[in-house]
Amino acid sequence: MTAERGVRPAGGNKVRFNIGGTLFLTFDDTLKHFPESKLANLSTCRDNYDDDTREYFFDRNPVLFGFILDAYRKEEIHLPSDICGPTFRKELEFWELSLSHVAPCCWEALYKSDDDIKTVNKLMDNYKENASMCSELDNHNKWRKTLWLFLEDPNSSKFAMAWVSFISILVLASTAAEIMLTLPQFHEDFTESEMKTVDLVLDIYQFKNGTTELFKSMKPNVYLTTTIMCCQVILTAELILSFMVCPKKKSFACNFIRVSATLGYVGFWVAYVFDSHLVTMEDNAWVYVYIVCKYGVILRLARLFYLSKHIPTFNVVGLTFSSSMSEFKILVFLLGILVCVFGYMMFASEYFGNENMRTMLSAMYWALITLTTVGYGDIIPFSVAGQVIASVCAVCGVIVLALPIGIISSTFYKFYNFNSYATTHLRLTSSMLKKTREEKKGIACTT
Ligand SMILES: [Zn+2]
Repeated sequence: MTAERGVRPAGGNKVRFNIGGTLFLTFDDTLKHFPESKLANLSTCRDNYDDDTREYFFDRNPVLFGFILDAYRKEEIHLPSDICGPTFRKELEFWELSLSHVAPCCWEALYKSDDDIKTVNKLMDNYKENASMCSELDNHNKWRKTLWLFLEDPNSSKFAMAWVSFISILVLASTAAEIMLTLPQFHEDFTESEMKTVDLVLDIYQFKNGTTELFKSMKPNVYLTTTIMCCQVILTAELILSFMVCPKKKSFACNFIRVSATLGYVGFWVAYVFDSHLVTMEDNAWVYVYIVCKYGVILRLARLFYLSKHIPTFNVVGLTFSSSMSEFKILVFLLGILVCVFGYMMFASEYFGNENMRTMLSAMYWALITLTTVGYGDIIPFSVAGQVIASVCAVCGVIVLALPIGIISSTFYKFYNFNSYATTHLRLTSSMLKKTREEKKGIACTT
């Protein structure tokens, strides 16, 4: 006997359910649509059957039971779109209904929350790290905890907020001074004695004549270097101090940004020592070390990223990147394929008439620049076929870039929203905890 889905005529005896105080009525034949479920195997001998009222009582949510009962009538499970998936899964588990009966139109409602839970867990991991540091500090001296919170958590007090602002200003000031150092207005000539070392540096680089002349008049301005030095003294002291009071030295040393900043600081001080001994530096090996340190100083900028730790939205950016790795892989993979395809097509069509596209590599470089919609215009196709390929390539680039970026931005929105909920939630719960603690203290004092 095969009846059409959802319109099978129901019959048999009426069954009464009292679900959390709400009455439901159905036929016992309807309940046989899922023979393996709890409702299909009810017995009047069990505890939840009331002989007087002739109804089964279950202490469950009547709203959700409406959907469960509806599933028996329709022979497939649909769930309300505004319900949280895990709650409904628990309900299905209770009624011994298999997830395989859930209609595909409701899969999103069923599993959407799982994604949200993952997002929240990732966010909370961030908070937990801070909280575990603080709980670790409870075992240490009081002054050490105060100092750590002062240095690391601007939300702990007004002074901590002022300190973080001060450090931010120092980092920005030293970066600004560093930028100004590259302006010709702030350059001076090297002295005769310093020129010996400068010549050594120039020997290593083997610049052309014009560049050598420029380099000779590139001695950094004293006021700017002093400003950078002052900022650096405080920043280095701050780094050493926070390392000393840090309750978990290992996690401090494993932080990529911290390590980069530390290397940058070390580079800065080594280069500083060399700078003051420019006159006596005669060995080539030392000059190499000097150059490496000068380049390493750029790592100091990592401190800027570390400052962003205190701006919640920046955390969200980092989390978005780390959880969008699969989208990045898709992007790179797609771009790689298209670069090869268009590069090869362009190479084949332009080989004889275009000097700039004599190698496959230059054609692939052209394809990458066109696909990413940068389009420098240093290499352009001349043949009609080449121009047609270029047009198709440009359109493909727009589409390929748009696809994963949409997903990444939706991930960002999700993290952003959840971050604001999480901060509100944590603030409210911590203020409630504080309140109850104070109340308990008050009661203890009066008794
Ligand atoms: Zn549905």
